[in-house]
Amino acid sequence: MERLKYLLDEEELPRAWYNIQADLPTPLDPPLHPATWQPVKPEDLEPIFPRELIRQEVSRERWIPIPEEVREVYRLWRPTPLYRAVRLERLLKTPARIYYKWEGVSPPGSHKPNTSVAQAYYNMKEGVERLTTETGAGQWGSALAFATMLFGLKCTVYMVRVSYDQKPYRRILMEIWGAECVPSPSSRTEYGRRVLKEDPQNPGSLGIAISEAIEDAVTHPHTKYSLGSVLNHVLLHQTIVGLEAKRQMEMAGDYPDVILGCVGGGSNYSGLLFPFLADKLTGKKPELQAFSCEPKACPTLTKGIYTYDHGDSAGLTPLLKMYTLGHTFVPPPIHAGGLRYHGDAPLLCKLTREGYVGARAYHQNEVFEAARLFARAEGFVVAPETAHAVKAAVDEALRCRETGEEKVILFNASGHGMLDLAAWDAAIHGKLVDFEYPQELVEKALRELPRPRS
Ligand SMILES: *Cc1c(COP(=O)(O)O)cnc(C)c1O
Repeated sequence: MERLKYLLDEEELPRAWYNIQADLPTPLDPPLHPATWQPVKPEDLEPIFPRELIRQEVSRERWIPIPEEVREVYRLWRPTPLYRAVRLERLLKTPARIYYKWEGVSPPGSHKPNTSVAQAYYNMKEGVERLTTETGAGQWGSALAFATMLFGLKCTVYMVRVSYDQKPYRRILMEIWGAECVPSPSSRTEYGRRVLKEDPQNPGSLGIAISEAIEDAVTHPHTKYSLGSVLNHVLLHQTIVGLEAKRQMEMAGDYPDVILGCVGGGSNYSGLLFPFLADKLTGKKPELQAFSCEPKACPTLTKGIYTYDHGDSAGLTPLLKMYTLGHTFVPPPIHAGGLRYHGDAPLLCKLTREGYVGARAYHQNEVFEAARLFARAEGFVVAPETAHAVKAAVDEALRCRETGEEKVILFNASGHGMLDLAAWDAAIHGKLVDFEYPQELVEKALRELPRPRS
């Protein structure tokens, strides 16, 4: 009998996160101060982040202990199950073995609380009383609302205006968990007022919302800012996913040949991948393959430029070395809201640049088609973001059907799609338009990249 899922006991929940910075062949390029282009000093970040997170951001220690209070919250839904997609394999008639790590079981429904809980905890420990953040479709805002509630902090979420108007369910979740949710651009901040003055109908973007959330944090006492992806400490917290998956793959008696995941800012994929990629970096598994999956409408890793850019629209954040479509990028209205950021995590970008990780891009229609097949075989309705990883896994399995290879495929099922049914509705009724981000726009954004003043 084939096992369908591999479960760990609560006591087996990992006790430390894995820091891939310990095993990089060369160190990361440092974040730069946007005015001076000199490396940012840890003190420069203190108005925004608590000290422990700044320490984790630059740490090269291989293992960072997970505080007991954080493990206790994790135990509400972790360890999460690892599934073998036996029914999908049969449907595809593939000799490949497909595994997925199911992060949709957390209260907010995605991997995001793996870091929001840790971040809320460290802020609470350092006396912070309120956190600000941005959110696109609302997954991150709801994950931070959940976490701040558990540690007694207030939370203000700047939600991209179009999503606020079109996707009320996650706003409601945030409010249930006690957070305040403000549509962005808003009149709360200097930057929001400036954007609204130029264009009162501005639909908002993640870049604008980040600028507002940071401004709110730095202009108010006992308030700090929290980011749900991209940064090293976020990827670090997400490694809990890969550390569990590694033990579960051992239980299954398999080791992945290829690891796949969707990428918005890079956190869920890196979280699954890095503990395995350690084996490639240290020469134990040189043949391990890894591919990230992104929308063709926001092709950061497949069409972006590897350079220093701002993380937000206003240019408040440090410059990060990453693949970018330019901080002036205005995302096309695709349904995978969580995959519309102009940049990606510097760690994942560096590993992509150096050839350890590949990247693939898909159109939204083919992505939903694969996810529908998955829903019919496995039952779970995944988030539109997750559907990109499903598409890549299905493609890989079909390739194995042709070649007869018994490849072991592992992907991260980052979240469920039960609050994204409007997007699903559009998809199954043929109302989604495929959009490929044009090369001219990439080149235009290139001309608007920040440059050092000489
Ligand atoms: C936010 C989100 C993503 C994209 O963010 P990453 O940082 O790239 O992981 C992917 N899937 C789900 C379900 C999300 O909520």
